[in-house]
Amino acid sequence: MEQTLSIIKPDAVAKNVVGKILDRFESNGLRVAAMKKIQLSKADAEAFYAVHKERPFFGELVEFMISGPVVVSVLEGENAVAKNRELMGATDPKEAAPGTIRADFAQSIDANAVHGSDSLENAKIEIAFFFSRREIL
Ligand code: GDP
Repeated sequence: MEQTLSIIKPDAVAKNVVGKILDRFESNGLRVAAMKKIQLSKADAEAFYAVHKERPFFGELVEFMISGPVVVSVLEGENAVAKNRELMGATDPKEAAPGTIRADFAQSIDANAVHGSDSLENAKIEIAFFFSRREIL
């Protein structure tokens, strides 16, 4: 059993497809162990994406992530990290495989519907960023 962090980004929340995206997870063997809808502050987004701070798109990424509320969840299941990445599809929705979340719900490389931890190690750090132990059930 693994746990991973998922964020349904502001574009997908604004499009009202939260339930459709959660259904992709639940229909593919992942379980929601924790969930909340929140508005990230600029400091939150900068801290969460600190690994990208030298990238040219960092400012745009932060502005996008604070442009509206997000739905953050802990997904649990066998190979949850890789399974979530597979369900998400490639970062650029134009390159995402048909049937993936990004192919079906995302518009562009920045407004790309979802975030998912890219390793078990990062999943632990990202889960702790948003949730206390007693919020994960
Ligand atoms: P992910 O793990 O598939 O989300 O991709 P990365 O870790 O490489 O990038 C993190 C996030 O930064 C992506 O999900 C995009 O929202 C954003 N991003 C990545 N590349 C670009 C880019 O070239 N331009 C912009 N504006 N955003 C980008």
